[in-house]
Amino acid sequence: MTDISIRRLNASDSDFDSALAKLLAWEDSVDHQVNESVRHILHEVKTRGDAAVLEFTEKFDRLKVGTVAELEMGQDRLRQALESIPQDQRVALEKAAERVRDYHERQNQTSWQYEDDDGTVLGQKVTPLDRAGLYVPGGKAAYPSSVLMNAIPAKVAGVGEVIMVVPTPDGVVNELVLAAAAIAGVDRVFCVGGAQAVGALAYGTQTIPAVDKIVGPGNIFVATAKREVFGTVGIDMIAGPSEILVICDGKTDPDWIAMDLFSQAEHDEQAQSILVSPDADFLDAVEASINKLLPNMERAGIIATSMTDRAALIHVADLSEAARVSNRIAPEHLELSVEDPENLVDEIRHAGAIFMGRYTAEALGDYCAGPNHVLPTSGTARFSSPLGVYDFQKRSSLIGFSAAGADRMGRVASVLARGEGLTAHARSAEYRVREGQSDE
Ligand code: NAD
Repeated sequence: MTDISIRRLNASDSDFDSALAKLLAWEDSVDHQVNESVRHILHEVKTRGDAAVLEFTEKFDRLKVGTVAELEMGQDRLRQALESIPQDQRVALEKAAERVRDYHERQNQTSWQYEDDDGTVLGQKVTPLDRAGLYVPGGKAAYPSSVLMNAIPAKVAGVGEVIMVVPTPDGVVNELVLAAAAIAGVDRVFCVGGAQAVGALAYGTQTIPAVDKIVGPGNIFVATAKREVFGTVGIDMIAGPSEILVICDGKTDPDWIAMDLFSQAEHDEQAQSILVSPDADFLDAVEASINKLLPNMERAGIIATSMTDRAALIHVADLSEAARVSNRIAPEHLELSVEDPENLVDEIRHAGAIFMGRYTAEALGDYCAGPNHVLPTSGTARFSSPLGVYDFQKRSSLIGFSAAGADRMGRVASVLARGEGLTAHARSAEYRVREGQSDE
């Protein structure tokens, strides 16, 4: 394997801004054929329900059955999967689930209210969703960790029913995925994938119940379908390719950093791995490690393409400048591989997850640290947050006026309503004002 050369940028160069913009540009290519195809699938599922689900499952996953009920894996089947997997896998999944549950329990929001001087009560009532749909990808690889990361926050939030869909190409069921569903307490599992699964969850079919929100990653067909059904149901996010940005002071083993960059690059060719350091010699050392370690990686081809096309080694003046560069990128995963991460984190404003210190490999966060691995990508950490319990809870405002409060605020409402020309609003408020009730 010939050495790969990684793009170098220097934050002090006059064209750094445009070079950075070019580095981050990612075409979320709107493929019209995919759009057309997804719209057709969704329309068919919406109008014909189970029959369409069966047809598309046969067409895209080469799985032919007579009824959608046959595609459901009951609780007994989930338990059987849990019993059948290797013991070390079961122990690891259970340990990861426990940590993810512990962490997410701390996110649980509760209802709150307070009382004004005049006895008026105001607050928020927090309610879990009735039903959540969880898409677990399964076309090319299986992701038991994604089952835990999506299902556990929903269960912690108190969602009434968690319905999971997962494709089973050629009818090959992944036992680890079913075992993870058993551990996470998923209520129902259907072996359906792609846009047809998203449509079934959004509109409901004779067998698959409609849900209130669909979460979980997937390929372009799944992402496009989620975009299309948004509004009928809620969705979590549309995830782009995975990203890691490492800020290093130059004192971590370069092999560790190279492997951390690989850990995202191996996801797919469009994944992005960036190293930022004030130590130019260290950038050279990491590049040498990359070329030393790459040939022995199982997914060397994917890593090489990702690193060649989208990776960068960025030289900065100091760690504060590194933080400023990182804030402009707003990465999904940010490693602070430095002596004093507590100090540097104060300067970080935008990142999906921040991994503090040399021993905190991003991979730990992917599986078992506890926080969610479903994170905002493509700079969306500027305005959004990791998947969490709050994504499965909603809030209703609580407003309870006392007679004195209605008198006091009714006068205000009346003036504002009349200003807007909305007489019924004004009179509705004025009826509850003790004196001078309107009778026009
Ligand atoms: P998938 O389950 O997303 O897609 C498989 C489905 O695609 C099939 O069931 C089929 O219905 C549909 N499909 C395939 N070809 C089609 C066609 N020509 N027309 C219509 N539908 C078609 O599984 P995948 O393909 O392996 O993709 C998984 C994706 O999820 C990857 O991009 C992966 O990177 C991503 N992922 C992301 C995370 C995360 O946390 N961000 C985690 C795991 C996976």
